[in-house]
Parts: sequence; C-alpha cells; structure tokens
Amino acid sequence: MRRFISQRVQRVPPSGIRYFFDIAATMDDVISLGIGEPDFTSPASIRAAGVRSLEAGKTAYTSNHGIFELREQISVYIKRLYGVEYDPATEVLITVGVSEGMYLAMTAIIDVGDEVIIPEPAYVSYAPEVVFADGCPVFIPTCAERGFQITPEEIEARMTPSTKAIMVGYPNNPTGAVLSRESMAGIAYLAEKYDLAIISDEIYDRLGYDIDHTNFASLPDMRERSIILGGFSKSHAMTGWRLGWAVGPEAMIGAMAKIHQYTIMSAPTISQYGALQGLLDGDDDVLRMRDEYNRRRVLLYQGFNELGLSCVEPKGAFYAFPSIRTTGMDEFTFCEKLLEEEQVAVIPGTAFGPSGKGHIRACYATGYDQIEEALTRIERFLKRHN
Ligand code: PLP
Repeated sequence: MRRFISQRVQRVPPSGIRYFFDIAATMDDVISLGIGEPDFTSPASIRAAGVRSLEAGKTAYTSNHGIFELREQISVYIKRLYGVEYDPATEVLITVGVSEGMYLAMTAIIDVGDEVIIPEPAYVSYAPEVVFADGCPVFIPTCAERGFQITPEEIEARMTPSTKAIMVGYPNNPTGAVLSRESMAGIAYLAEKYDLAIISDEIYDRLGYDIDHTNFASLPDMRERSIILGGFSKSHAMTGWRLGWAVGPEAMIGAMAKIHQYTIMSAPTISQYGALQGLLDGDDDVLRMRDEYNRRRVLLYQGFNELGLSCVEPKGAFYAFPSIRTTGMDEFTFCEKLLEEEQVAVIPGTAFGPSGKGHIRACYATGYDQIEEALTRIERFLKRHN
C-alpha cells in the first residue's frame, strides 16, 4: 500500500521521541524523563471552567477564530507581558495547540521549494512541518560549547534566494537554551535585510528561570514580519486540552485562519473556556509550577555535572541536554541500555537534529523524588560501564 503514500510524507521519519516512549510503556518501574509533558494536572479553576461551560450547554462550534473573549484576553496578556499589541478581531487566532499553529504558519507561508532556516537541535515537529508544506528545512547547527547560540554569520552562510523564513523556538526544546539578545538581534537584522518571515514558537515563554522572556515581535520592526505561536500546554499544564494561539499581522493570521477554517473549523469549545479562565486567574498557578520546575532543574543539571555528564545550565523550558560523550557510548546505545538496565527513559539527542550527537535529553517535568532516584540509577549505570 506504500505506493499510495505521498513522497512528502515518506520523506519524514517517525519521531525519535515516540520510539522510547513506546518501549518504556511496556516496562515496570520506569522513571520517565522522556516525554515533555507537565506532571501537574490543570489548575482547579481551569478544570471547573471547562465543566461549567459544558453544563451551560456550550457544546457548539465557536467562531473560526475562537471565542472573542479569549482572543481579547490573549491580546491583553501579550500586551501586559511583552508590550506588543494585537487586534483581537483580526490578529489573534485560537489553534489546536502550538502544533496546529505551526502547521498553519508553514502552510500559509511556504510555496514549493521555499527554504526555512531552523537552528538545531530543535523541537521534532519543525522540520516535518516544513516538509509537509512542500518546503525545505535548512539546518543551522548549534553546540553546547557556545551555549547553543547562533550568529547572523552562520545563518547568512546558509541563505539562498529561496530562503523564506526563519523558525525560532526559545526557550528551546531540547537544550533549554534561551536566545541571547545578540543572537536575537542578529536574526532580526537578517530578517530585515533579506525580507524574511519569522515563525517564533514561544510555548515555553513562562518557563524561564532567572531571565525575562523576549517576545520576538517586541524587537524593533519585527512585529510586521513575525508569527508568534503560544499555548497553554506547558505553562498551564493543559496538554490534553489541545489549545494554543497564533498572533501576527492581519495578512498572516488571515491566511492561517483560512486553512484553519477548512481543516479544523474551530478549536475545542470547552478548552477555550478553560483557557480563558487560565488567563483570567491562572498566573499564580503558572508561577507555582514554574518554581517547582526550577527546583527540579537545579537538581537535574547539577546532578548530571556531578556525575561527569557535562550539562549547560538550561535557562528555560523543562529539559536538560547533557553530553554523554565521556561514556564512550553513542546516544542511542546509551538510551537503550539505560532503559533496559536501569529503567530510566531519556531521549537520544539526535532525535532533535544532528547536533544532538553525543547528547541525551532529560525532561524534569516529573517529581523531585523521581529525579533523585533517576540520578541514583544513572550513577550506578555509569559506574557499571566505566
Ligand atoms: N513546541 C514545542 C517547542 C514543544 O515542546 C511542544 C510540545 O512538546 C509543542 C510546540 C507542541 O505544543 P502543543 O501542545 O501546544 O501542541
């Protein structure tokens, strides 16, 4: 039956994250530092708002763009946090998570053969979404030695007349890196110089540790060429509700809304009411969860360093990306053996791009005690293989 499958889809390999998740799911006593998902349930007021919306009979489609009140509150939220203004009527679109937002952004922007620059290691969906939209991902390698930062020179060296957009995702999954002001300014300079669109995945904007998040559209002259993707999955522990948003100039959001209208119709109604509540009174919950992630972050990245697995301090999101080179194993063997021998699930760095070679990704959105136990098991594993 393979003959029916498009070349486009065949070119994309399955996600390297799922492979380990599926094996781990068949084992007992596994500590999963694998999947990037909060271990918190959604805050009580959000859950209650979802239930209330159901009981009030709000079970129909909403406007294609999403309920107006939610769009208004997203606009207020972004203005409050980052000082950037969006018109809720035309410049805000409610999506089925950032995942849908990304699909819409790529499909709205890319024509056949257009190139999209992606610094890597990067979230697993960026490149496939470019390919699904008939574009070509062009990777910019980054490395731990330079804190996973990028320079305009590196990007410019990979540019061609087909370059259409730059995809940025910071705080970064999998490295936890946050883009420095200089790196951001470098990207902004190139976007202006070569008239490029920016797609900025800011799903981890509220999970920054001792740093202030910079919204890409808040940089000088960037608002008019940037699509900013945001969501509730991580900050509000709402992965299963499938809700996010895209904001940008009217023409870009209008094009995305056209695709959304024909493919999705509208994001889930209950979820929109739950998310609205999250914006109205969820900030304390967001900060409470962030503080807990922060404790775990320090435990995990310092723990890796103490075990001799050199790890750059992650500044955002909920991942550590240590090097495992000193073990002499490649990242795939390391993950396989660690899961088999010690029942600890982590992900090979190369699932996120070739620069992830010699690294693993460990997610600390799991209990403090679990992380302590995982470190004990990793220590035992390292001693055995030394
Ligand atoms: N972007 C990044 C960087 C992610 O890590 C994830 C999920 O892991 C997503 C987007 C998808 O988010 P959503 O649940 O909003 O679709």
